[in-house]
Amino acid sequence: MDAITQMLGVIITTGKNAGMTYAEKFKATPTEIVGECVRWRGRTFQNEYGKFGALGCEWLAHRVAYVLHYGAIDDSLLILHACDNKWCINPKHMRQGTQQENIDDAVNRKRLNPAFGEAAGKAKLSSIDVSNIVRRYKAGESQTSIHADYPQVSQKQISVVARQLQRKNG
Ligand SMILES: [Zn+2]
Repeated sequence: MDAITQMLGVIITTGKNAGMTYAEKFKATPTEIVGECVRWRGRTFQNEYGKFGALGCEWLAHRVAYVLHYGAIDDSLLILHACDNKWCINPKHMRQGTQQENIDDAVNRKRLNPAFGEAAGKAKLSSIDVSNIVRRYKAGESQTSIHADYPQVSQKQISVVARQLQRKNG
């Protein structure tokens, strides 16, 4: 199961959203219809991608929307926008692609720049990172050891991610 699917099923335990799942919190986030696009009205990354906070991490909103609509995805695949609006979370405007396709897309559209693409996102932990953290934690590796490979986040964040997803999936 991919990291986003796991995250979406976790029940929030603190704060004003306590008792909701992250899937419900995501669906409750305001959006705005713009033509055929759906603008994310939650927080955004500096590069305009929608941002969804869960489990102490920041997730790409369009990727979460894709998983909610189509089901689990391969963590190594990118979700590309067909409409070219980074803030759009309409699942029908997205498709799965590889990093190479993402680069090809950008070149074809003549707008290749460092801020383009999920790989250049500001997320501290990517969904691939989260998958790897959970896998290593399940395999018995200590949080301190895992944290050594992710200095960009606190060890507490590693702990929250690993333990919540572990509990969720047994
Ligand atoms: Zn769109």
